[in-house]
Amino acid sequence: MLVIVLSLCKTTICDCTEINEKISNYYDIPSEEYNFLQISDNSAPIKPTTPVGSLVGTVGVLYNFSSFTTDPNGDDLYYMFNWGDGFNSKWFGPFSSGTNISVSHMWNERGTYEIHIIAKDVFGLLSECSAPLITDISGPYLTFKEIKGGFGLTTVIENIGDSNATD
Ligand code: CA
Repeated sequence: MLVIVLSLCKTTICDCTEINEKISNYYDIPSEEYNFLQISDNSAPIKPTTPVGSLVGTVGVLYNFSSFTTDPNGDDLYYMFNWGDGFNSKWFGPFSSGTNISVSHMWNERGTYEIHIIAKDVFGLLSECSAPLITDISGPYLTFKEIKGGFGLTTVIENIGDSNATD
C-alpha cells in the first residue's frame, strides 16, 4: 500500500481523483467507493491549509511557502509541494501533526503558478490537495531585436521582460 501511493504521487500529486482511481483499480473496487474504503482504522490527514507565501516574485529568487495540517489519529505527517511548473518537491517529514512547515522554491521562467500542497500520514494515507496559492513570477525575457551580418557581427538584444537582466 505504502509503495503504491508513493509511486502514484510522483506524477499526479494534485489530481486526487486520478490517484483514487488508480488505487481503486488496484483493489478492483469502484473509484467512488475508495474514499469510504476502510483499509484499517486509520484516517487520512485533514486537507492542508492553503500555502502562505509571496504572491509575486522574480525568476531565479528563492521564496518560502508554508502550510500545515493535522491528522485525526495524531499520526506524524509528510508534506509534498506541487510548484505549478511541472515539478513536485520531495516528501518532507515526518513532522508531528499540526507542525507548520516552510519550504523554499525558485522558478526558472516567468509566469503565473499555482502552488498546492498535499500531506500523507506515516501509513501512506493521502490528504486532499490544498487550495492553490497563486503567485506571479516576473523576470527578464530576452529577444534578438537586430542582427547585422558581415565580418563584424552586431547583435542588439532587447529585454522586453519586466525586470532587469543580469549577465
Ligand atoms: Ca492517520
